[in-house]
Amino acid sequence: LFVPGPLAAGAQLSLEGGQAHYLAKVMRAKPGDAVVLCDDITGEWAAAVVEAGKRDVLLNVRERLRIREAVPDLWLCAALVKKPAFDLVLEKATELGVARVQPVLTRRCVADKLNDERARAILTEAAEQCARTALPALVAPARLDTLLAHWPEARTLFFADEQGGAPAAAEFAANPGPAALLVGPEGGFDDGERAAIRAHPRARAITLGPRILRAETATIAAAALWMGSAGD
Ligand code: SAM
Repeated sequence: LFVPGPLAAGAQLSLEGGQAHYLAKVMRAKPGDAVVLCDDITGEWAAAVVEAGKRDVLLNVRERLRIREAVPDLWLCAALVKKPAFDLVLEKATELGVARVQPVLTRRCVADKLNDERARAILTEAAEQCARTALPALVAPARLDTLLAHWPEARTLFFADEQGGAPAAAEFAANPGPAALLVGPEGGFDDGERAAIRAHPRARAITLGPRILRAETATIAAAALWMGSAGD
């Protein structure tokens, strides 16, 4: 479970709400039962249940199991697509090891708002499921033009373009280092946006094959290929 940190050996921690319910009611935790905690600061810790009540569960933090991992330096700049698809993107990006999720607002975006609390809950649950010791950062949605105007010099922007580009795996291997994937919304980028992205000095257009993939499929496929190429 991800809990507020920093955790330390010997500390006592009281969990409430959903986490207490999960431990006490779903897992039927009893005093002495082992729980693994993460704080997204120091890493992963072994803890034991001291008391499991109706409203809260008291835990005793024992020893550190792993220090917080070094996350592969990949940002995901994914156009904000409709809810079930973006939920999937958040979950799979976390499982694949993405460091940061940047929702992007483009001209053809149907969705224009992200429920931050819900999005963070999906990221946290996915991180717990896949035993990540670091949560992906989630930043506020940004307009495509703003993002391009403030793009960091040292980071390659791989532009997933269904109209063609260099084969993704080869392009990732040829351009190691800090990277980001840019994927469009349900209706794709419009011509003006595509021209602006392609003209950007840090952008490199990639193809994921001759078929037009759903935005969420393209995102997951590109992230998996990048992780495979980076060896992470
Ligand atoms: N209409 C479908 C949907 O509802 O998801 C397809 C949308 S596709 C145009 C969305 C984005 O996925 C594109 O802007 C592009 O970034 C990416 N994409 C889809 N197929 C791709 C491919 N074969 N190669 C590279 N990128 C691709």
